Amino acid sequence: MTETVVYRARKIVTLDPNLPTATHVAVRDGRILAVGGADCAEPWGDFVTDDRFAGNVLVPGFVEGHSHMMAGAMWAFTYAGYQDRIDPEGKVWPGLTDIDAVIAGLKSAVANLAPGEPLIAWGFDPIFLPTDRLNKTHLDAVATDRPVAVMHSNFHLLTVNSKALEMAGYTRETNAEGVAKGPDGEPNGELQEMAAMFPLMRRLKIDFRALARTEKAMLGFARTAMRVGVTTATDLFNELPEEDVAALLKVTAADDFPLRILPALNGVTQIGSAVSERMAELAPRSIDKLRFKIVKVMADGSIQGYTARLKWPGYITGHPNGIWNMPPAQLAAQIEGLHAAGVHMHIHVNGDEASEVALDAIEAAVKKHPRGDHRHTLQHCQMADEAQFRRMAALGLCVNLFANHVWYFGDQHHDLTMGPDRANRIDACRSALDAGVPLAIHSDAPVTPMGPLHVAWCAVNRVTPSGRVLGAHQRISVQEALRAITLGPAYTLGMDDEIGSIECGKKADFAVLGEDPGSVDPMALKDIPVLGTVLGGRVFLV
Ligand SMILES: [Zn+2]
Repeated sequence: MTETVVYRARKIVTLDPNLPTATHVAVRDGRILAVGGADCAEPWGDFVTDDRFAGNVLVPGFVEGHSHMMAGAMWAFTYAGYQDRIDPEGKVWPGLTDIDAVIAGLKSAVANLAPGEPLIAWGFDPIFLPTDRLNKTHLDAVATDRPVAVMHSNFHLLTVNSKALEMAGYTRETNAEGVAKGPDGEPNGELQEMAAMFPLMRRLKIDFRALARTEKAMLGFARTAMRVGVTTATDLFNELPEEDVAALLKVTAADDFPLRILPALNGVTQIGSAVSERMAELAPRSIDKLRFKIVKVMADGSIQGYTARLKWPGYITGHPNGIWNMPPAQLAAQIEGLHAAGVHMHIHVNGDEASEVALDAIEAAVKKHPRGDHRHTLQHCQMADEAQFRRMAALGLCVNLFANHVWYFGDQHHDLTMGPDRANRIDACRSALDAGVPLAIHSDAPVTPMGPLHVAWCAVNRVTPSGRVLGAHQRISVQEALRAITLGPAYTLGMDDEIGSIECGKKADFAVLGEDPGSVDPMALKDIPVLGTVLGGRVFLV
């Protein structure tokens, strides 16, 4: 007979409506055997009591429904972001808060490279430095004898120097969408969205896939997750070729690997039956900590990068409307084909025009191929309006809102992209819940740092760095936010029968907290200490 361990805690917040709080949870074979008081395991024979969490609060392990495994690998590149950032080892990298600091940071990084080796940086965001948009001239000051490429924090834009433009063959004759030109008609160094970025990324061997599939990167990702209480995370875009699948299977099979991972198969550049056939091959190869269940589809770009597709009246700056990663007709065909084949889709939509086009496509697909409980999920969906939330509910869709944006970009959306009216309704958690749309909230790490308590804090308080409350009517309660980082995302992933709450039969996945989220000042939610996780009954401490 296997051992039963009963963990005693100061408090256990279960998210099980039949027993919302408890003090003890019994674990056997990695699963929850019983929940309740000190005697909860008595019907099941002998047990040992473990008091190590006696002063702590246990909540269901957090579920990050939109993140990227490259969050563990980006540190191979030079960090050039505006905010301070913590790497997987816990080291703080200071933010670079003006363009001179960015250039100086890049110059000192060049000093550590071999001759001719490209300099690749990440995390940069021009929206915080609005006086001077980064261009090839800035980066030529960093180096002219090697390519320099600066990935923006949203991963939808890349700014490069003249050497890199030359390598990509981009000239004044180039007539491709996304290769931005200056007033002189020459490419100015900014490359927007995938079609313009990918050819150069290939030449420079900026290969997020290769980076993310190393054992070190996977462990870095898992450790980053564990430090913030996450026990299940998506890798929300993965090509999943055989060698990567083999690496993932090997690494996640280890008993001491501290994370469940759901890679979402590429349904953006791969089309139609190739996707559903690959998914049918992969699904049965799922193991306990690695699940092949979902496919990523992508409509538009990024709002703060001005590549999201907005409905009338567009960007307040008069900036031209954004870029489709899948034009509407292609998106509709892809959605219909995958829906008909029984695939579970997670669809990137940022601007409200992209949401509308996706809703139209899903409505057509659902009418033609009725299918119950599909749980297709609109990802980001930051500008959705009331009518769109009602349509989501009617179509059986889930939504995973980018609540961290309220803090990281809320002031910029208010002042520079969509203006006060629409900025007030970004990441409209209240509207989603009121319309009855199953809700998750996310970080999109590494776009913003992984940290579900921070995401929840954003959804509850909606404050911005300038001190404004952005869209007070869209605030949700702490209990609702806690659900949106546990059971909510578990539902969007079709795993709410296994994870997301603390109840008999589910995986023994917990986040170990220093305080009860329901008892602290809501403004202190993000500061609650995370001491570690329990994953399948195994303890991982920070
Ligand atoms: Zn993403």
